[in-house]
Amino acid sequence: MQIQCECGTFRAQLPNFPRNTPGRLACYCDDCQTFAHHLNRADLLDSAGGTEVIPVYPAEIRIEAGREVLRCLRLSPEGLYRWYASCCNTPVANTRAGFPWAGLAHRVFTVKDPSYLDRTLGAIKSRIMGRYARGKAPSGTADKIDFKGFITVFPFIAKGLLTGKAKRSPFFAEDGRTPIVPAIVLSLQERKAIRQRLGF
Ligand SMILES: [Zn+2]
Ligand SMILES: [Zn+2]
Repeated sequence: MQIQCECGTFRAQLPNFPRNTPGRLACYCDDCQTFAHHLNRADLLDSAGGTEVIPVYPAEIRIEAGREVLRCLRLSPEGLYRWYASCCNTPVANTRAGFPWAGLAHRVFTVKDPSYLDRTLGAIKSRIMGRYARGKAPSGTADKIDFKGFITVFPFIAKGLLTGKAKRSPFFAEDGRTPIVPAIVLSLQERKAIRQRLGF
């Protein structure tokens, strides 16, 4: 499977996909919404403000082109490392240092083939953080994180930790901790301005 940004400058190969992924997830949290709005990509949120991600192991992503357009944003000094392609402001992945998780943005799968995820993974498996949804979240959305959300991703994370899948991440240097480009940390002011606009 090849993923790519909107304009195709950034491209990566997922040689094992869809093996190992726990499936499609949606997060309605304030941070995911803030990130999309910061990129001016609210068009990628669902009608209740949800962000869809498909987790894969960092070790199973091979960047083929456009490494130079990748940018890394943190919404706060302790926040997730959120990656996007600066050529066309397409969100790419959210990651944590040393963690076997790259939550790939659904858009990188669907630029070339809009129904790809529906065909390969079926419906969204778990929806979390519904307390921040715009209006009414789809039925079955957990208010925060529920047991269903937990068991959806737990085997993926456990296997990833046991088999060293956080290592050799294309987003981090050899040490697994240093992002390949310096992370931009949103200032408290910038963050507050977006949150206020969104009513959080
Ligand atoms: Zn692009
Ligand atoms: Zn979120």
